[in-house]
Amino acid sequence: MSPQNTTATGVRTINHFINGEETAGVGTATQPVYNPATGEVRGELRLASPEDLNTAVAAARKAADSWGDVSIARRTGILFKFRELLAANTDELARIVTGEHGKVLSDAAGEIGRGLEVVEYACGISQSAKGEYSDQVSTGIDVYSFRQPLGVVAGITPFNFPVMVPLWMAPVAIATGNAFILKPSERDPSASLFLARLWKRAGLPDGVFTVLHGGKETVDGLLTHPDVDGISFVGSTAIAKYVHETATRHGKRVQALGGAKNHAVVMPDADLDLAADHITAAAFGSAGQRCMAVSVTVAVGEAGDALMDRLVARAHDIKVANGLDPAADMGPVITPASKTRIEKIVGEAGEAGAAVLVDGRGLLVKDHEKGFFVGPTIIDGVTPAMTAYTEEIFGPVLSVVRVDSLDEAIGLVNANPYGNGTAIFTSSGANARAYTRRIKVGMVGVNVPLPVPVAWHSFGGWKDSLFGDHHIYGPDGVRFYTRGKAVTQRWPEPAQESTASFNFPSS
Ligand code: NAD
Repeated sequence: MSPQNTTATGVRTINHFINGEETAGVGTATQPVYNPATGEVRGELRLASPEDLNTAVAAARKAADSWGDVSIARRTGILFKFRELLAANTDELARIVTGEHGKVLSDAAGEIGRGLEVVEYACGISQSAKGEYSDQVSTGIDVYSFRQPLGVVAGITPFNFPVMVPLWMAPVAIATGNAFILKPSERDPSASLFLARLWKRAGLPDGVFTVLHGGKETVDGLLTHPDVDGISFVGSTAIAKYVHETATRHGKRVQALGGAKNHAVVMPDADLDLAADHITAAAFGSAGQRCMAVSVTVAVGEAGDALMDRLVARAHDIKVANGLDPAADMGPVITPASKTRIEKIVGEAGEAGAAVLVDGRGLLVKDHEKGFFVGPTIIDGVTPAMTAYTEEIFGPVLSVVRVDSLDEAIGLVNANPYGNGTAIFTSSGANARAYTRRIKVGMVGVNVPLPVPVAWHSFGGWKDSLFGDHHIYGPDGVRFYTRGKAVTQRWPEPAQESTASFNFPSS
């Protein structure tokens, strides 16, 4: 079916991308997509019907069968072209991200830059996916092992990084010879279509990259479809757990990255100005809607009061505005429901005895009165029993917990069910070493607030922040999207005597 680009009321429709073409599909259900800075409807998203899902998976299956046989040189040639197109179109793509997500333009360009890094890693797949060879393991026998694609893999992604998270997955999946189906967030889906067009322009064969829109029904369809071999999921913990359990039960390989509560521990020996600068940026950048955002500061001993003064001063300087405004530091949150939920949690902390030192509730931005804005908020004296501590707030709210020692800080972080990222600010190597060794978290920063690993390392949390055995992108990404095969071979000389034996083979 050919795509229709506007609805009867003049709103742009956002289509699927199946078998190399934009298509409205046969499903009739739709859902509005908003600009969170203005509250206006920006587009009408098509939601896949079960028939659309079957069409998409069938096209991907067919494509996977031939794409896996394409030479590494040709595959990487396409990846290099995709890399060039992505770099050249960063500004346009960033505007699409800001228009549906709300983050400021420079931050949108930043997430594209981090995705680009994974594309560059995937351009070197000839090196990172190469096999191993052992000569003469037994007389006249060699063993070699190599990796082959899974086949059809699907990526289910969250709203907060509509370009970077799909690019944590697709370049590595495609470079290793798989067909990839992206089910992006319904909240900011247009960036995924832009990526699809770039893949096509780069020369990727039809069906190797698919975009299929939908909600729970579409996700369930992918998790249970017999022709889908692997699932990469990034989103909230409850859904990550559900995705992991359901897809595993249906025989698929699964990596499911969940939510987070990231603590930054500040020691009294830290450079407090540096710590305050970095914690402010990491707590309020992207309105706190990052899985690696610092949402809790753990102030140790006498670091507390001096740090609070600095954090409060910096929070007051943050300019909240439409992300398209070049002067904006921070944009809106994603939905009115998010705004309501965040403001409720701040209120509960105040009622439970914490001090709301900077209060972003009820913020109105001039000429954007219908936008979903919450201002920077700092809550001091938060305890582990408060919802401000137990909930992943996912908004511009920094909770401060005060403790007396590094041991107490480590105990607090390790007792938290999440284990995505954490940081320590200190000038002591001994403190840093003790923290990095003892902390039960997957990614740790030392005087670095957002320790997102570069693309040739892998990204992943522990505990309720990741379900499955593999971290994402980098070497773990290559392993996730491929299966190992080991070949033991003998090529006897024509006249050679047989050595067959009933004993277990030895040298
Ligand atoms: P979400 O869990 O609501 O949605 C993620 C994806 O799951 C979307 O594509 C959505 O359509 C789908 N989905 C939603 N409800 C579903 C259901 N009931 N059944 C099946 N599928 C469903 O997450 P979000 O609000 O879009 O994103 C924010 C969350 O993602 C936060 O918790 C954040 O910490 C997390 N996140 C984690 C990482 C990480 O690397 N660990 C990275 C980015 C975001």
